[in-house]
Amino acid sequence: MCGVFGIHAPGRDVARLTYFALYALQHRGQESAGIAVANGGRITAQKDLGLVPQVFDETALQALTPGSAAIGHCRYATTGASRWPNSQPIVRHRKGRTVALGHNGNLTNTAALRAELAERGVRLETTSDTEVIAALICEHPGTLEEAVQAAMERIEGAFSAVVLDGEKVIGFRDPDGIRPLVLGDLDGSPVLASETCALDIVGATLVRELEAGQMAILSTTGVEVVQAVPARQVGGAALCIFEFIYFARPDSRMDGIGLHAARQRMGERLAAEAPIEADVVIAVPDSGTPAAQGYARASGIPFADGLVKNRYVGRTFIQPEQGLRDSGITLKFNPIRDVIEGQRVIVVDDSIVRGSTTTKLVRMLFTAGAKEIHLRISSPPIVSPCFYGIDMAATSELIAASRTVDEVAAVLGATSLAYLSLDGLQASTDHGADRFCRACLTRSYPTAIPADLVDGGRFRFETGAAAVRA
Ligand code: SF4
Repeated sequence: MCGVFGIHAPGRDVARLTYFALYALQHRGQESAGIAVANGGRITAQKDLGLVPQVFDETALQALTPGSAAIGHCRYATTGASRWPNSQPIVRHRKGRTVALGHNGNLTNTAALRAELAERGVRLETTSDTEVIAALICEHPGTLEEAVQAAMERIEGAFSAVVLDGEKVIGFRDPDGIRPLVLGDLDGSPVLASETCALDIVGATLVRELEAGQMAILSTTGVEVVQAVPARQVGGAALCIFEFIYFARPDSRMDGIGLHAARQRMGERLAAEAPIEADVVIAVPDSGTPAAQGYARASGIPFADGLVKNRYVGRTFIQPEQGLRDSGITLKFNPIRDVIEGQRVIVVDDSIVRGSTTTKLVRMLFTAGAKEIHLRISSPPIVSPCFYGIDMAATSELIAASRTVDEVAAVLGATSLAYLSLDGLQASTDHGADRFCRACLTRSYPTAIPADLVDGGRFRFETGAAAVRA
């Protein structure tokens, strides 16, 4: 995942606006946060491990020099360990050029590009794929636009990124359009963001989404959008369908569709495809809530709050290590016994990855007195890993990769289990299948996946303690 933001607004407090935008994008990455500000050719940056409000207080914000442009990033690591040098924006100086870069996505040819850069004597300080993009841009002798375009021609995989030099901000999106990037307008000043919810929080309006392979150049002359590299997909993009199911905030709009309504439609279709007699529908909050509401509405079974979520604990799925995931779940949910006790309960969630969280939830609900637990999942089974920026799991860890639905239900301990069909999911998005990446559901990837990526995992460029942990 990761969230990115960029703004060119001379005379505005660009650092503070970026801080608020990152707050809205916090759900996309909770490991580190950073802001870089440009003023008259100079870049000042501040970044650290932690949530946005842990990294930035008033003093930290004021330490960022006032500037005409800024970028921001919140990180969820998919290449490289969760260490300070890997936090973003990555700032790189070389050959008279300084750039700061924030990246959402995951490159698939990082190993080859690292080897090529090493051969050319270009030193890399981090183990992330993002620095490779920054290095390619810094090494290029041309303008920033030319350097970004040349880098886009070399890098493969998923990237929605923002880059800042002393004066301009450029946002660019991979030729498959896997991760989102939107362009907004703030009282005449252009802004870029991973999601529209970040535009809302700073008071900007949506202008358009960047299409696959496009870059947007934000400067004193306004904004210019160019097709830097050709789009590769027949449908124009292979947007990650999990942005619709789960990752993006429900108040965001993506590809012209409101995500809250799309998730409710997923629940309605799930009720039609997998009906069951029960007393109450509950959600796994918050990401399962819109689909649970849709399921309840379509089935006529009342919706109730059956699980309370502690909002001050991070999303279990997004934390990088299994140990953290395991300890997080007990902190995060608590059942409401009055709603559950003696009831046949339909529990709606958006997805099941490893199944460890769901197993604990089922146990917790039976302990709270549930008579039956019918799991209804508003996406199809996840059967293959993601190489485009979602640290889901290896195939061997995915609970549905080699089990039937009944076998998964038995492992989870549920009375019954049903998933939304691929067709049902697709119809809920109001778009055709050719508009999306659905590879983790279908095993059909929109780009080539090199063997080192399949075998290596997220820590393949680490040495020392991080490599041992991997
Ligand atoms: S593989 Fe799955 S999670 Fe990854 S980009 Fe494609 S649809 Fe999204």
